Amino acid sequence: MSLNAESTAFRSALEVIRAVEPRVADAIGAELADQRESLKLIASENYASPATLLAMGNWFSDKYAEGTIGRRFYAGCQNVDTVEALAAEHAKELFGAAHAYVQPHSGIDANLVAFWAILADRVESPALKKAQVRQVNELTEADWFALRRELGNQRMLGMSLDAGGHLTHGFRPNISGKMFDQRSYGTDPATGLIDYDKVAEAAREFKPLILVAGYSAYPRKVNFRIMREIADSVGATFMVDMAHFAGLVAGKVFTGDFDPVPHAHIVTTTTHKSLRGPRGGMVLCGPELADQVDRGCPMVLGGPLPHVMAAKAVALAEARRPDFADYAQRIVDNAQALADGLLRRGAKLVTGGTDNHLVLIDVSGYGLTGRQAEQALLDSGIVTNRNAVPQDPNGAWYTSGIRIGTPALTTRGLGAAEMDTTAELIHTVLGQTTPGANADGTPSKAKYVLDPALAETVSKQASDLLSGFPLYPAVDLG
Ligand SMILES: *Cc1c(COP(=O)(O)O)cnc(C)c1O
Repeated sequence: MSLNAESTAFRSALEVIRAVEPRVADAIGAELADQRESLKLIASENYASPATLLAMGNWFSDKYAEGTIGRRFYAGCQNVDTVEALAAEHAKELFGAAHAYVQPHSGIDANLVAFWAILADRVESPALKKAQVRQVNELTEADWFALRRELGNQRMLGMSLDAGGHLTHGFRPNISGKMFDQRSYGTDPATGLIDYDKVAEAAREFKPLILVAGYSAYPRKVNFRIMREIADSVGATFMVDMAHFAGLVAGKVFTGDFDPVPHAHIVTTTTHKSLRGPRGGMVLCGPELADQVDRGCPMVLGGPLPHVMAAKAVALAEARRPDFADYAQRIVDNAQALADGLLRRGAKLVTGGTDNHLVLIDVSGYGLTGRQAEQALLDSGIVTNRNAVPQDPNGAWYTSGIRIGTPALTTRGLGAAEMDTTAELIHTVLGQTTPGANADGTPSKAKYVLDPALAETVSKQASDLLSGFPLYPAVDLG
């Protein structure tokens, strides 16, 4: 029997790798097996197509291509030019953007490129000029403070972490928290929704240079038209980080006021979350910022990854096909079915539901911390991650929330009926898990008690549920 192209490709690749270091080949095979087995509800993960994956495993990886098309610091980049141009062209068409920069290696890198481009565009400063000709990672903390003093303590207004914002939006563990004097807008304690009047008020008081919208854990749409009006009212540059929901923009689920591209001065994204491409990042902008954005490498990025740009071109071509719009709609339909299933069984959800790809369960309703809930679900074959909820009493480590998302399971083909079953499994596990105690009898935020027999039963139910939806059905590793 002859094998299909995908099976042949991956089997041959593993055979070649196995001849050098069999343990790597085994780990790759084991990873596919594990992914096939687990009910993956991590909101930021997906399954890229075989074509996207295969575009990364080749000699493009050997090329240096610093600079941009037509302005490379290395000779012999004509084929890299081809794939970079294709990726940028697809991105521009897909998102309706004037300019696309497809070199960033990740979402964090894309944000750094954007911040630097905005600063370079907005600020006349000798210190900045000096910093621009040095590698950013050579700047000391004292340099940063000096720089910020001279720049007038550049200000960024972004969404708070516990409301669903991202570390790169001006928080201390990320360099953005050192580059910028940050203030956050949160969500309304009663509804869990962004209060645009409050954002406008904060903007008026704080006068940020950059207003950032975008999130990792906010289960609702954001009105980017209103956010742009707020930015304009205080002369801020409006940046949207659509890392999580780029697939919903690409698939035209988010349109009009909810499509960031026509409203923002600059848009950043990852390519591997709901967009379903290779791991990477991207920046979209108008002509005003294009030159500065294109300086991303070598300003803040290492040499581009041409093999990943090739994969971005493939994935973006896929996202332009009509079936991607259908996929994007099913992501949201599934998230809503999951939310409904949980609500019907009595779960407490942040904002009471969802209109995107993710659902945030407030597990204090089950008497648990996020950490306990995450581990109990994992024991039961359900992969999620803990996440802070607004005004979280348990902080960012233990948390009170579980974030779940549907991009990956939707790629597998699961639909509304399976989402209801998934809600049942989650509710069963969380309802049967109780908090554990420390050795001295005090309540623990990490330990929990769950009957192993129940965990096993749920694991079995989860794998039964998945068995009807094979992952990478065309890939048979033998
Ligand atoms: C995931 C994410 C990022 C970071 O992406 P990486 O590719 O992990 O660097 C940045 N911003 C937001 C909003 C994200 O959700």
